[in-house]
This record gives sequence, C-alpha cells and structure tokens, in this order.
Amino acid sequence: MRLSRFFLPILKENPKEAEIVSHRLMLRAGMIKQQSQGIYSWLPLGKRVLDKVNAVIREEQNRSGAIELLMPTLQSAELWQESGRYDAYGKEMLRIKDRQDRAMLYGPTNEEMITDIFRSYVRSYKDLPLNLYHIQLKFRDEIRPRFGTMRSREFLMKDAYSFDLSREGAEHAYNRMFAAYLRTFSRLGLQAIPMRADTGPIGGNLSHEFIILADTGESEVFCHKDFLTFGVPGEDTDFEDVAGLQAIFDKWTSRYAATSEMHDAAAFEAVPEGDRVSARGIEVGHIFYFGTKYSEVMGAKVQGPDGKEHAVHMGSYGIGPTRLVPAIIEASHDENGIIWPKAVAPFDVTVINMKTGDAACDAACEKLYGALTRAGIDTLYDDTDERAGAKFATADLIGVPVQVIAGPRSVAAGEIEIKDRKTGARETLTIEAAINRLASGN
Ligand code: ATP
Ligand code: MG
Repeated sequence: MRLSRFFLPILKENPKEAEIVSHRLMLRAGMIKQQSQGIYSWLPLGKRVLDKVNAVIREEQNRSGAIELLMPTLQSAELWQESGRYDAYGKEMLRIKDRQDRAMLYGPTNEEMITDIFRSYVRSYKDLPLNLYHIQLKFRDEIRPRFGTMRSREFLMKDAYSFDLSREGAEHAYNRMFAAYLRTFSRLGLQAIPMRADTGPIGGNLSHEFIILADTGESEVFCHKDFLTFGVPGEDTDFEDVAGLQAIFDKWTSRYAATSEMHDAAAFEAVPEGDRVSARGIEVGHIFYFGTKYSEVMGAKVQGPDGKEHAVHMGSYGIGPTRLVPAIIEASHDENGIIWPKAVAPFDVTVINMKTGDAACDAACEKLYGALTRAGIDTLYDDTDERAGAKFATADLIGVPVQVIAGPRSVAAGEIEIKDRKTGARETLTIEAAINRLASGN
C-alpha cells in the first residue's frame, strides 16, 4: 500500500476527550472515529488490526472444534419473552419497533437465538457435542461508555454456544474454550489470567473471566504471581482429550485469582505475601456454563441413548475483539506510539522514503516495495512529500514492527537502514540483503 493512496487521518494534537493511552493513540493514529456516544467507525488502519485479531480468534475457535455461522444483529422480542429475559434485561437493551409495530431489539447477546436455531434442527444426542459461534456486532446501552472502543455501546463480540447431553459433556466443552482462550490471548501478545466470576444476568454456576493486567483496567483484581509465568497450551493440544483438557483447566485454576466481586480476602491472605499480586485488569473474555437454563424453558431437547427426551446442557463464551485492540495497545506502546505484536500489526513492514522526489531514493524504495509486495509481505510505502522527521513520527505512532529507512546518503552506497520498532535496534544492510531478509519473514 502506498501511503499517498491510503486513508490515514493522523492527528497531530492529543485529543482532549481521550483519558487513557490506548484511546489517545487509536484516535491519533487514525484507527477509529466516534460517530455518536459509544459508537465508532473503524477507519482503514484500525480495520486492518481488527481483522487480524478476528483471524486469530477464528483460527483458535476452529482448532477447538467450534463451527462458525452468522446470526443477525436485530432480533425479535418474542424469543426473549420466551426465555423471560425481555423484561429482566432492563435499559441496556435497545428496543425497536418495525413498521408493522412488531417489537424488535438490537441483540446484546445471542443465547435465545442460538437456542432457537438448535431446537429447529437437532433431535438426537448423536448430533452432539455441538459448539456454534459467530463474530457479530452487539449493542448494550451502557450507562457510561468510555475509553473509546474499550467500553462502547456498539461493539463486536465473538460469542460461542455449546450444546451437550450431560453436565460432564458440557464441562469438557467448557474446558475446550478455556484452553482455546488461553491460546488466543497468548497469540495476541497478551498474558490473560482466568478468574472465577459471577454469572450475572446470563445465569448459571461455572464461570471465568479472562483478565489482562493493566493500570487503566476497570476491574480490581487479586491473584497469585505464578499466573505470570504459566505456559499456555501448545498448538498440538488435543481438544478431544478429556483428561488432557481437564489437566489444563486444573493447572490454571490451582492458584488464587479473583476480581473484587468474587474476592475472598482470607483466601488471598493465605497466599505467601511475596506471591500476591493486586492490580487492575481489563476483562477481555468471559465463559459460562449454565446447564439447562435456556434449553428447559425454550424446549431445546434431544433424544438420549435411553430413548427419553433431555434438555441440553449449554455454555456461552464471549471475547470482545473491539475491546482487545485497545487492550493490546495498553500492554504494548511507548512514548512515541503503538508497538504492534507481529500477529496483529496492520502492516508487516513500512518503507520510509526520506526524500521523495530524489531519483535514487525513489528508485531504491520502488525496488524494495515491489520486491517485498511480490514476496507476500504486507508493506506500507511512505511515498508522501512529508519531511523525514514527520515520516519517522508517523511510523513510530502507527507501530508497524519493521521500518526500512532509505535516505540519499545510504542509498548512494547501495544501502538502507532497518529499524525494529520494539527495541529501536538499527542495522544497515545492502538493498539486496534487506529484501532477502525481510522476504523470508525474518
Ligand atoms: P463488562 O463487565 O466489561 O461490562 P460484561 O461482563 O458485561 O462486560 P460479557 O457479557 O461477559 O461482558 O461479554 C463478553 C465480552 O464482550 C467481554 O469479556 C468483553 O470482552 C466484551 N464486551 C462486553 N461489553 C463490552 C463493551 N461495552 N464494549 C466493548 N466490549 C465489550
Ligand atoms: Mg463479563
């Protein structure tokens, strides 16, 4: 992508409305634009990052055996009257009337709708286990939307729903998602800690929130410091292995970890003082097992091996991609801007032409840009007329992991400079060597 042809509305000034660093950097880097309170457009740079986050989430959901579908944002109130949540949900739910005066709503979550899909098609235990997920916008009319897309009213959620014949089956489904979540957050460069959680309006009895530690987090959290060094399940994790997944769950719940709502001061005091971590955290995921709460009232039943009808055991599992983007920035930035982990970077490499219009610089940059692009390296080429200093500032701000800097002096010697955005380390290479190195993905 040539920057002169891209849409990257960088802000020079710090936006006054932004209270935390991720919100400030997302606005300054032209990633998002507020359209009305708590409702955002994702501009091209932000959209690229969001797509990458979604891709990691999707890969790990698929790996764990979940199957993707897509449900609508608008739902009929009737479904929610069946479950009893239409009145219970309160003012967070945006209620709408269509032209026939039918009561509709903008979905804050999809338990009712997925239960309706399930009961329409599945009749036998032989079709279980089943886990269906989608990545779709939700609307919750939050009292205090704030911090940009960290807490917005319209936001994206990956929500998965599991169906099993028995509680044991449902616990295995829960453990699958538990392991998939550990892998997902780790691939996004985040250290997420599962904490026992309250089940809230979803209901049920087994629930964990996945929290990343950050000073700007809204939750107050308490945990054992071992969580900071536990290894996450590998790519070879066998999601069919019931005992293996139970062992992962047992390990990751073997130490104290709780948010303030579930905090047990006495249990925390029992942790050796040097091992106690009390900090602030951001909730990036939340998983629930709630048994037959919806299947019972909505008639989602299957025939068991005993020939009888059984209400299915269900769980639901959420991750917030539009919250994860700022959460990643909270965890990875410096005074100059964002430092993207490779997995979610909007571009792999940025080529900075220090003197656009200089024939030798232009030729060297075109050669680099062409060769990297052909090698499948997603490259942003800063071919604009800005001063070199402004180009460096933009590159640091938008956080592309590798900068390739071509100035008249180095180009005259057939060389360019490579800068690592994270460490600041610089290296001078010939243009050929730089192409070979970057094209091979190192
Ligand atoms: P919170 O406690 O932060 O209000 P929640 O517990 O109501 O969130 P869940 O119903 O558990 O949220 O939703 C699953 C996931 O969706 C959360 O873990 C979070 O990542 C994301 N999420 C929820 N509400 C918002 C929001 N207002 N803005 C952005 N992401 C959100
Ligand atoms: Mg939650």
